[in-house]
Amino acid sequence: MKIKKVLVTGGLGYIGSHTIVELVNKGYEPIIIDNLSNASIKVLDVLEQMLKIKIPFYQIDCTDSCEVNKVFDEHKIDAVIHFAALKAVGESIQKPAEYYYNNLVSTLTILKAVQAHGVKNFIFSSSATVYGNPIHVPCLESDPIVNATNPYGQTKIINERILTDYSNIHKDTNIALLRYANPIGAHSSGKLGENPNGIPNNLMPYVSQVAVGKRDKLTVFGNDYPTKDGTCIRDYIHVSDLALGHVLTLEKFETDPGLVIYNLGTGEGTSVLDLVNAYQKATGIKINYTFGPRRDGDIPTNYLDVTKAKNELGFKCKYSIEDCCKTAYEFQIKHPNGY
Ligand code: UDP
Repeated sequence: MKIKKVLVTGGLGYIGSHTIVELVNKGYEPIIIDNLSNASIKVLDVLEQMLKIKIPFYQIDCTDSCEVNKVFDEHKIDAVIHFAALKAVGESIQKPAEYYYNNLVSTLTILKAVQAHGVKNFIFSSSATVYGNPIHVPCLESDPIVNATNPYGQTKIINERILTDYSNIHKDTNIALLRYANPIGAHSSGKLGENPNGIPNNLMPYVSQVAVGKRDKLTVFGNDYPTKDGTCIRDYIHVSDLALGHVLTLEKFETDPGLVIYNLGTGEGTSVLDLVNAYQKATGIKINYTFGPRRDGDIPTNYLDVTKAKNELGFKCKYSIEDCCKTAYEFQIKHPNGY
């Protein structure tokens, strides 16, 4: 069955909005649900202008079963990409009830609607965080999933489990658990990018705000980790490369694979200082930084083996780390105060 209409929850968020672009470019017809808790409605205008189409949009919460089901009644949905979730690691430690409630009830609500409406294709936004403090790097899809270091990560693990159990009994449903590396960068047009509220939690938007003088300096959290330069190592992937991984997964669904799990990353480990250096090289701007204490819950090293996605999906990253920095910077200068 040819997939055409794709419901994208969290479709106005950072990864969601970049995925909408890739979906439309490949001829899919997205429908967006977003509660706007961490996204701007202006992103919808940007998308519609960029893509020169009208995109059906519903400002609803994915935990609202009644409203969610209305969307499924209105559209003949072929596939769901479920991005909508709370995602701040530190905040999840402070607000476990909110994180477990939102991230689990959202998935369950969408999944029950999927079941009730006979939808056979479901992509879930998972994370490299499910590997916890990995036993080896790069992490493989077959590595054990033990316990995350925070409630946010734990919701990813539990959601993966829910979807795996669903898939065990609904053999005719294709489910993909996509475990993301750290998405960074911005759309090459400079029109879409990461736009955090308040002080950025994540490294890349923080560096960009230092680059344009919005913040004084970056604090590098810890320089005594057992890594080459003492700072943490992660796998940073351009958000448009990550977005394309979802389109490739939908193409894979045409072969009815059932449950599939893919790491989506670059396969390369990059330290905090590597990233700062790449940013300086790509933009010519000096990034001031100091070393501070380690951040609670951070693990020294995590990057992904992406051989499986490469072999089975044809997944390949187009953007280098410097491209990521350059596009992030361009978005930042064009949007000094957000959208
Ligand atoms: N980091 C940092 N300073 C910051 C923000 C992040 O040194 O202001 C480090 C953080 O400790 C981690 C890496 O940058 O080692 C990536 O952090 P981020 O929050 O972007 O992603 P995470 O891998 O934690 O999901």
